[in-house]
Amino acid sequence: MTDRTSDTLDLAPSADDLDALRDKYAAERDRRLRPDGAGQYRRAAGEFGYYAKDPYTPWTERQALTDRVEVLVVGAGFGGLVTAARLRQAGIDSLRLMDEAGDVGGTWYWNRYPGVHCDIESYVYMPLLEEVGTVPEWRYAPGEEIRRHAVAIAEAFDLYRDAVFQTRITELTWDDDAAEWIVNTDRGDRMRARFVVTSSGTLSQPKLPGIPGIESFRGHTFHTSRWDYGYTGGTPDGDLTGLADKKVAVIGTGATGLQVVPHVGRDAQHTFVFQRTPSTVDVRDNRRTDPDWAASLRPGWQKKRQDNFLAVVSGEDVDVDLTQDGWTSTPDLQRAMITGKLDPALTPQERERRDELLDAQKMDAIRARVDAVVDDPTIAEVLKPWYRYMCKRPGFSDTYLQTFNRENVTLVDAADHGGITRMTETGIVVGDTEYEVDCVIFATGFEVGVSGVLSGTMPVHGRDGRTLLEAWARGPETLHGFYSHGFPNLFQLGALQNANSVNFVHILQDQAEHIAAVVTAARQAGAGIVEPSEEAQREWTREVQESAFDNEQFQADCTPGYYNSEGKGRPNDFTYGPGPVEFHRVLEAWREEHLDEVLRVETEVCS
Ligand code: NDP
Repeated sequence: MTDRTSDTLDLAPSADDLDALRDKYAAERDRRLRPDGAGQYRRAAGEFGYYAKDPYTPWTERQALTDRVEVLVVGAGFGGLVTAARLRQAGIDSLRLMDEAGDVGGTWYWNRYPGVHCDIESYVYMPLLEEVGTVPEWRYAPGEEIRRHAVAIAEAFDLYRDAVFQTRITELTWDDDAAEWIVNTDRGDRMRARFVVTSSGTLSQPKLPGIPGIESFRGHTFHTSRWDYGYTGGTPDGDLTGLADKKVAVIGTGATGLQVVPHVGRDAQHTFVFQRTPSTVDVRDNRRTDPDWAASLRPGWQKKRQDNFLAVVSGEDVDVDLTQDGWTSTPDLQRAMITGKLDPALTPQERERRDELLDAQKMDAIRARVDAVVDDPTIAEVLKPWYRYMCKRPGFSDTYLQTFNRENVTLVDAADHGGITRMTETGIVVGDTEYEVDCVIFATGFEVGVSGVLSGTMPVHGRDGRTLLEAWARGPETLHGFYSHGFPNLFQLGALQNANSVNFVHILQDQAEHIAAVVTAARQAGAGIVEPSEEAQREWTREVQESAFDNEQFQADCTPGYYNSEGKGRPNDFTYGPGPVEFHRVLEAWREEHLDEVLRVETEVCS
């Protein structure tokens, strides 16, 4: 590809401009920093358990299970589904999917709010399109199309057989004599599994802001990931007729808020949007899939496109950008948070200067778009983001900013007060002003980065009863992020000591394929145990730490959010620094040369 930077840097701001911009960003960050950091949020549990209740599937009673399966896959989102599909393809008959939700789909099961769409191109995001025999209807697919695709995967690979839903693991205990896991659940199950794969997601538990008085509000309220269509009327396509006579508050203007606000703003009698930090809102340009293009696709097209997208956003050298959208035009900026290939010709200082200039240009364009779209200059000013591009998940919409030109929509700036000041029985207070509303919708996001295994909500007892959290007391130690010594036959999907990308489903897909290859190799070798040596996991942990890309300063300068643990910063050795493409190469080579090192045959597979 051509160098995008050389012809644009001439238009970049001067050094003085950059100094002024840095000062402005720092002032805006300081306005929002709260001493309680991530402690400001409340779990949707206990007295707030109502916010996590499943509104989509009625509760079904069932008998407790005491049976045995060869593989248990925990989590029926795309990570779990693709793993299960690949294992099925590899000939594993005894396979159980488990999820807390009432069906498959993971995030797409829960998030059914009006306007829900994927912000990554569906041709690279939705997995197994060719295997299922479909091409998405939209370039950026609506959530319902994605959820139905998850169901189609489960049907195509016969994954509903033996699946259990509305079920949460309460304990995993390794039985060394039988060489299998004992799985206890909140449904009284005590089942057994030779292998357990956890893919329990990193953005699944809804969180609420710890606003003083939040419990005193007497109107209607819910979280976007548990949308109450019984109250609002309508569907994920909109038409929220139940709101026609209602005053509604939407709290939160992240990726979800961007998609919800245009619908609520159009349909409610009046909408108050409470904004603490504005999102970047770039062009979306969604469109229906061209049927001629779909008909022209040849076998292997999806993998080629996915690999190309991953390579482009990871900064790899490629000849062509097949997707050409808001993600593939900004790899240099994304690298600040999600690492990838670095240009060896530049020193870290030169790279930082170049990235900062590009960032300033991009953010100027984002701010100019606000001016171009929003009629009232005072409102436009409040909607302008003042931080570097990757401090928050970049946003895309062609309807969000336009909503603030409506008479029945009010933007409330809550930045100065660390968010909303308090809630009363009848409304929301910011500073000294109370906004009376009938309904409060929390678009306030999710607890982040906490798979059940890591947070301890899914206690894992390995060999000798040692818990995984005890084993990781001085930090996680894994081989490639998948497994740990002392915890045989337990595989974890996720970004930890593994790879990351804005298209995380692609990462999950690669992980699923790797796990299927390892389990298949174990079966072929007659090995009952898959477990890395202490030395191998120590070496991998060291490699992840030594190859980490230093973005500590970038994070410290960012406006607070979940990307930087609300201003505290996040260890940058969480994922493999050289990026997902290089990580994939590492895994491929490892499968060729070292896979048998994790297999132990003294316990034979008997399935
Ligand atoms: P976010 O965590 O990104 O946003 C939460 C919002 O709530 C922020 O605007 C936050 O403000 C605001 N907020 C929190 N507390 C308060 C408070 N006390 N007062 C006022 N405002 C408050 O959650 P989202 O659900 O929007 O997105 C989460 C993630 O889900 C995304 O980053 C993305 O990864 C994923 N997602 C992906 C989509 C896709 O299409 N693939 C679509 C939607 C979501 P502040 O920024 O100041 O903290």
